[in-house]
Amino acid sequence: MNNKHVKWIIREWSEHQFFVILLVFMTILSTSVAVAYPFIFKNLLDTLQKVIAENTAYNEAMEKIYRICWILVIVGVVKLISAFYPALRAMMNLSFEYVLRKRYFQYMLEKDFNFFLHFRTGDLVTRLTNDIQDFPRIGWFICSGIFRAFDSFIKISFCLGMMFFMNWKLTMMAVIPLPLMIVMFYVTSERLYKNFQKNQEAISEINNQLEMTFSGIRIIKSFVCEDKYKRFFHDALENRFKTEMKVVKINTFLHLIYEYIDYFAMIGIILFGGYLVVKGEISIGTFYAFYTYLSMLIYPILDLPQLFISGKQAFVCIDRLEEIKDYPAQHKTSESDLVSITNPIEHIRFEHVSFIYENRKTPVVNSVNFQVDKGQKILIVGPAGAGKSTVLGLLSGLYKPIEGNIYINDENIEHLNIDDLRQRIGFVPQEPSLFSGTIKENITFGVENPDMDLYYQIIEAVQIKDEIDQFTDKDLTKIGQKGLSLSGGQKQRIAIARALMKKPEILILDDITASLDAQKEELLWEQISKLFGDLTAFIVSHRLSSLRYVDQVILLDSGKVIAHGRHEDLITGHQKYQEFIFYHHLYSK
Ligand code: ATP
Repeated sequence: MNNKHVKWIIREWSEHQFFVILLVFMTILSTSVAVAYPFIFKNLLDTLQKVIAENTAYNEAMEKIYRICWILVIVGVVKLISAFYPALRAMMNLSFEYVLRKRYFQYMLEKDFNFFLHFRTGDLVTRLTNDIQDFPRIGWFICSGIFRAFDSFIKISFCLGMMFFMNWKLTMMAVIPLPLMIVMFYVTSERLYKNFQKNQEAISEINNQLEMTFSGIRIIKSFVCEDKYKRFFHDALENRFKTEMKVVKINTFLHLIYEYIDYFAMIGIILFGGYLVVKGEISIGTFYAFYTYLSMLIYPILDLPQLFISGKQAFVCIDRLEEIKDYPAQHKTSESDLVSITNPIEHIRFEHVSFIYENRKTPVVNSVNFQVDKGQKILIVGPAGAGKSTVLGLLSGLYKPIEGNIYINDENIEHLNIDDLRQRIGFVPQEPSLFSGTIKENITFGVENPDMDLYYQIIEAVQIKDEIDQFTDKDLTKIGQKGLSLSGGQKQRIAIARALMKKPEILILDDITASLDAQKEELLWEQISKLFGDLTAFIVSHRLSSLRYVDQVILLDSGKVIAHGRHEDLITGHQKYQEFIFYHHLYSK
């Protein structure tokens, strides 16, 4: 445990102050009740021994016994109250799990695209599920784990205190194993931490495999790769099994050692304690109480190192969660300094914008300049891998330029509230991701109280109505994970409808060649201008017929703008543009 972990736990607790204080109170209450019993019985036995030895009168003796019974009744009532203690702890474990999942999910959503390239989906799922839940992970540790340790600590202190008070020599015998246990723990703890970390990574890998298999099931089946994936999964499972077994082995070994150390200490105590009773140095009541306190000590003494062990495991999980939080978020500017977009977007301007992906040597967008005014449509063309999608990603704030600036209405995009901007953008990515809900849920995704008239107009505009009607449940048809039950073109048209439902000011269409033929595309633009007037649009397309609807064209190659202007001007005056169009035309024939 280091400072970082302690601070983390205190921060979590401070959000549940009332319950943490209640737990402290209940821990003390339940421990006091538990440790009170042997003392009361010691008194009972001592009283009986005295009554016999001193031949005390019947009434007087019975009065003493009644008094002890009354004390037992009071302790019993308190015990009833403290019976709720484990339930309260369990409830708080769940509550911590709930809060942590919510918070770290929120952190994930605040990250930019690089975050999702850096962490794999299965890994993130593991961190938010397995890492948090159940014994011995965070949710359990920061409540039950720590309070059980606290409970054990109080029991050990009280029992040892009582034992010292009754007979110090006997107590010394009982504490001999303690240093041995501590040494054992330190010797093994680093190995345990490392193995547990490997185990969590192996669980992440399994979830990655599952995610990859289910999301790529079409490819797997069409390439007849089921056996290969079975092997991948088998290997991942085997790795998890191995690391899990290592953790179990270390745990079992430690537990066994602790148990036996304690067992032999117990035999020693009976021998030595029995000897002291025979010698008359201690009473039978004291011997009984001593033995009971010692047996009460065994569980906490075994439990305490075990809790340290699970603490080590929980810290691995805390570190994994913090790694998510510490990954740079998309905007360094603090929320309060961000500018909201209040007016309609009049211009968008790229000034010497360059961008490089984390794992690449050279920029994929290189000093790009252009300006688009409200209502204009711009077509970005270029060979595969030229950087067209990346330019659109930069515009929608998915990536941040490494050089140059992007201005929206003369305000640097860096200072803008990105959520505000995205609210005004309807984005149709090259590979539209649909969710596993109904068609209707997908189209109205992200819109609160969707306008249903507009919804039906948009379905007509993207020309998908007839195809939706072919499904028995029409737009209430569930479309399976990632739109598995739809064709590529249908998915893209649903994604266009989803973008339009936001009533965007800017429409971004990243290569919709597959979804609409030339005739349908013409109809789409007609309908869009009827519904929304002149939308500002950024279009990436491999179909030259798109040139008919646009005001400007950009030809990109290797991230650089090769040509920029009106198609009519470029086709007559720009040699590289002419060549591109010529070859492209030949190719597309
Ligand atoms: P296409 O027409 O094939 O869709 P494009 O012009 O849209 O291509 P981009 O998708 O912007 O091109 O990619 C530009 C370059 O950046 C390519 O060389 C590509 O390999 C690279 N690239 C794209 N995404 C990533 C990524 N996440 N990490 C690293 N490199 C990337």
